[in-house]
Amino acid sequence: MSDNTTNNKPVINFIRHQINDDLDKNLHDSIQTRFPPEPNGYLHIGHAKSICLNFGLAKDYNGKCNLRFDDTNPSKEEVEFIDSIKNDVQWLGFDWDGEVRYTSNYFPKFYQYAKELIDKGLAFVCFLNAEETREYRGTLKQAGKNSPYRDTSKAENLDLLAKMKDGKFSEGECVLRAKIDMASPFICLRDPTLYRIRFDKHHQTGNEWRIYPMYDFAHCISDAIEGITHSLCTLEFQDNRRLYDWILENLDDFNKPNRPHQYEFSRLNLEYTVMSKRKLQQLVEYNLVTGWDDPRMPTLSGLRRRGYTAAGIRDFIDRIGISKVDSMTDMSILEASIRDDLNTVAPRTMGVIDPIKVIIENYPEDKIESLQAPIHPQNEAMGKREIFFSRMLYIDRSDFEEVAPNKKFKRLALNKEVRLRNAYVINATTFDTDFDGNITTVYATYDAETLGKNPADGRKVKGVIHFVEASKALKAEFRLYDRLFTLENPGKNDHFEQLLNSESLITTHGVVEPGMKNAEPEQAYQFEREGYFCRDDKDESKYLIFNKTVGLRDTWSSSKIS
Ligand code: ATP
Ligand code: MG
Repeated sequence: MSDNTTNNKPVINFIRHQINDDLDKNLHDSIQTRFPPEPNGYLHIGHAKSICLNFGLAKDYNGKCNLRFDDTNPSKEEVEFIDSIKNDVQWLGFDWDGEVRYTSNYFPKFYQYAKELIDKGLAFVCFLNAEETREYRGTLKQAGKNSPYRDTSKAENLDLLAKMKDGKFSEGECVLRAKIDMASPFICLRDPTLYRIRFDKHHQTGNEWRIYPMYDFAHCISDAIEGITHSLCTLEFQDNRRLYDWILENLDDFNKPNRPHQYEFSRLNLEYTVMSKRKLQQLVEYNLVTGWDDPRMPTLSGLRRRGYTAAGIRDFIDRIGISKVDSMTDMSILEASIRDDLNTVAPRTMGVIDPIKVIIENYPEDKIESLQAPIHPQNEAMGKREIFFSRMLYIDRSDFEEVAPNKKFKRLALNKEVRLRNAYVINATTFDTDFDGNITTVYATYDAETLGKNPADGRKVKGVIHFVEASKALKAEFRLYDRLFTLENPGKNDHFEQLLNSESLITTHGVVEPGMKNAEPEQAYQFEREGYFCRDDKDESKYLIFNKTVGLRDTWSSSKIS
């Protein structure tokens, strides 16, 4: 596995170039990366890009990758998220080096380093309120101005920081700021905040701390403590790289050539969905989806519940590659990766999504025949499955027409033969309808000589349709999913939740082969001619539930044109 491969050979992207250069210069003995999620939601497919990149590089360079929870915000984080994130990383096929790390483990160290910066005259406690701070900061066009607290003595600043830590000030009363340059063209260097006061209880450290480090302060130091060599993040942190470097260069423990360096790559954005955890959280909170693992969600737990495979997702990440160009990725690329993987691994079965009955009039009343069907037509090693045939069967409503519309029609029509997959050739004679004119039952005859062979008289039968024998059929609920939003980029809209696709879930009731009672959740099957589906056991139901993973062909690209 790697971040980008062609014929399984890594493509040399700019990050690999950098690593190769650094190794050539003997800057590092080995490569150390990290995946640093904030535990404030479930992981989504965008995170998969970062996971495959970080863990993939570590693997390819015989290095190591840490899993570090970036838990510097006490109020928004939950243990449920920590557990799901660990689970998702392992499901994707990766394992972290040693113990799971927590940024909160380093709280005492951050405090020491904050004191070091104060000692060096590089940090101060500032009592400007939020509005004043904004006003002093200036704008992109206008330099900021120095805070009146900027020149407080070191001794006083050390004392003030200790008081902040001990809860002597209220939330928002003051912050610790770096003393850099209020006229810098990079706003993030205009005396950025390093520490703020929060009285919330933290899930790892309880009430021990009253001050919490900002991301920019905590992240670079955590990287340095863990010996991270290449700290990879998304493009929006490009400017913050200056602050990352400034902090490490001003701390004696870390100001060395082999200290960590930050490199940015573009985030993954997928069409017709939203990717920020905050927005996904809103969908869950407002009950617009059934949960973080709703199969329509772009979360790893949702995709997995829908039947997406880890191998398919890794292949997708390989296909899109790593670059510095922000773009939207077409959903059909992800689906193609999943389809390619499932085509080779998914067992075949038959399911009828919108059933009508077929009565085989010349078949004995009380006979049930057991037949053998391949589990995978291109892979004999996968073995065979037992299916049944009798006088009463189900076929799909769309596979019968009273009159064949044209010569190319390859399904069942009156006086037109078709083969039932893995069974006999049948010919329709008549049909019944209900009061509304909907077809309920088709009557047919079968040719007993056509099991596994062509008709003896040489007549040609065009078309094969799937079926399920009625007496042994299991009732099933099929959940057919479509894109969650109606717009390509719903996240841009303030009221993105109003752009939900009302047809993102369509439920139908039908039947499946009896063998499907043992189908495992998350194991995708190919329902022949219908698509890939997997069992869902999360909801109570008297029926077996199958989620549609993906269709057999790309319908996304074509439906977009119409
Ligand atoms: P979100 O906006 O969804 O909350 P985030 O960046 O705040 O995303 P983190 O938990 O902080 O989420 O992310 C952990 C890692 O995953 C970071 O290194 C981040 O850059 C990366 N990441 C997050 N979203 C994407 C994405 N869409 N594409 C690539 N990498 C991503
Ligand atoms: Mg975040």
